Amino acid sequence: MAPVHQHRTHHHRSGGRRLDLEDAGVMRIPLSSPSIGALESAFVSDAMSSGWISGSGPYLDRFQRGIARLTGRRHVLAVSSGTAALELALRALGVGPGDEVIVPALTFVSPAATVRTVGATPVMCDITPQDWTIDPALAASLVTDRTRAIIAVDLLGHPCDFDRLSELGVPLIEDAAQAHGAGYKGSPTGSFGNISIFSFHSNKTISTGEGGCAGTDDDELADRMRIIANHGMRPERRYWHEVVGHNMRMTNVTAAIGAAQLERWDELTARRNAVADRYRSSIADDAVGHRPIAPWARYSCWLHPVTVPDRDELVGELRSGGIDARAIWPSLPELPLYADGVRLPCPVAAEVSASTAWLPTWSHMPEEDTKTVVQALHDALAKRGH
Ligand SMILES: *Cc1c(COP(=O)(O)O)cnc(C)c1O
Repeated sequence: MAPVHQHRTHHHRSGGRRLDLEDAGVMRIPLSSPSIGALESAFVSDAMSSGWISGSGPYLDRFQRGIARLTGRRHVLAVSSGTAALELALRALGVGPGDEVIVPALTFVSPAATVRTVGATPVMCDITPQDWTIDPALAASLVTDRTRAIIAVDLLGHPCDFDRLSELGVPLIEDAAQAHGAGYKGSPTGSFGNISIFSFHSNKTISTGEGGCAGTDDDELADRMRIIANHGMRPERRYWHEVVGHNMRMTNVTAAIGAAQLERWDELTARRNAVADRYRSSIADDAVGHRPIAPWARYSCWLHPVTVPDRDELVGELRSGGIDARAIWPSLPELPLYADGVRLPCPVAAEVSASTAWLPTWSHMPEEDTKTVVQALHDALAKRGH
């Protein structure tokens, strides 16, 4: 099935996280763009005409079973977002006020924000220079009698060192939001920790527009998550509420998009990785560094990161040329909101944060677009004498 090349006209609505003016009009090559095609449309149309449009139905069952099969999880619960899945995981593990949760110092904000949402303190742990994921030795040194969990983020598609993290004896949440199709020592990402989560936001590799899921092999945790995500209500006892719940359900219509994307899992992950491989093999400038990959990792690229000199100027130049390159997030210790969780300096996260930019990466990105990006990068570097 041919993916829809919708970015030329519609990327301002679907491709990026921020809806700024540049995204709305000027960007010729978006940072990311979902691949929505005929199968997604057919499944959504089927879901609509079936009348199953809210938080239960055949596509939800199919989507949850599909993720469970791919990750080998006993239970998978589809929810409204990756952020909701993280909050659900924390609440199911009983994390609350006074508790600490160790999070990587470089990540999209959700792990820290959800820890704060449940009333606990996110404690930042630096990443390793070898793979840019949370450093297990440093994490060990941050464990206190208040530590209730670790959130390990498979950063930009690179798995964490789960053997070493599981040795710490602290409940583990795997945040695989950016790591569809990656793996660690023979097992897929999304299968690690007491609970693992995915996001299916439109800029993620597998997308439902908005959406997420939480998986576990633990019957009790699964039960608790189902109850919290469904108004604090047991399915077999209607309107009797034992805990304060939420409505975090994914709709059957959204799951229909997901069921179609699951059929295309291998295609969508492989094509995204092919774009990353093109970048690696065609960027010739020695001033450009690529993401380190550990020998034990099966990496699956989300957005291709490059480390470059004069990062902000370089990104500005690419952007003014219509290329939606972006600076990576600030490291969490730089955000005043989370300053109370800084126990140790996080120099690796600060360094990666200051020097790294993402290049546009999406599954159906034409080869000519990658060439345009590489040429623009080479030109911008040459202009600065690198
Ligand atoms: C995208 C992302 C999330 C949040 O997912 P949403 O579906 O956007 O709420 C959480 N963690 C990480 C690491 C992410 O990249």
